[in-house]
Amino acid sequence: LKVWEVYALKYAEWHTRTRAQSFLGEDDHSTPYPMAFYTWVLRHENDAILVDTGYPASEAERRNRPISRDPTSLLSVLGLAPEAIRTVVLTHLHYDHAGALDAYPHAFLHLQEAEMAYATGPCMCHPTLRHHYTVEHVCNAVRGLHGGRMALHDGEVEIADGISLHRIGGHSRGLQAVRVRTASGWLCLASDAAHYYENFLKGRVFPIVVDVEDMLAGFSRIQALASARELVVPGHDPLVADIFPALSDPAVVRLDRGPVPELASATLQW
Ligand SMILES: [Zn+2]
Repeated sequence: LKVWEVYALKYAEWHTRTRAQSFLGEDDHSTPYPMAFYTWVLRHENDAILVDTGYPASEAERRNRPISRDPTSLLSVLGLAPEAIRTVVLTHLHYDHAGALDAYPHAFLHLQEAEMAYATGPCMCHPTLRHHYTVEHVCNAVRGLHGGRMALHDGEVEIADGISLHRIGGHSRGLQAVRVRTASGWLCLASDAAHYYENFLKGRVFPIVVDVEDMLAGFSRIQALASARELVVPGHDPLVADIFPALSDPAVVRLDRGPVPELASATLQW
């Protein structure tokens, strides 16, 4: 049985967002609620799987959404070059998750069929829905498909010993979460099935949503996929970088041993 190490790499943090932008129906409109941006790496001996790519400086400039680090270069903290990544899991195709796909032109890609259909289908006629996608990123995914480098999944699939993908939907039609066997038990990378701890712990809907019912059901599913609540990792919560132990570079934290108990209990009410 393969037991994996799991790392989160933080490449951006925005401080201009408010609670009203993170919770549907929030009355508190003005309180700041920062958002962090991560990619994730799964490691077992010489195997390294990247979960989402982040987005590079060019996209940051185009959208006026600054990044603090180049997500691809951050791999070097783990001693990895982009060429060492032979597998990329795309949780969905939003620009902040698939924006650096061109840095991995030979990697094999895993995506949900529903996400490809969504990102290339009639929903993209609506500016509100397509705003979160960048056409070049979607084209790069299509290039992977036509290059014979992509598997399109329908629901649940095991892609390696100890790693499975689970379609959740909600935030985007084909959003998938990743379940990983670690020394601490099953860990669930929720990606945007839960942007923040507060989303899934309190059942609070994130306002960028295509299906509220799927999002709410997803809050339960991501918790059921993990052996403990501490092993559910939300996709954009700055707390992740604060409560999990950092490597020599504080932008990279190790997830598979769980959060530092004192830090977790000081910040989260489970
Ligand atoms: Zn996201």
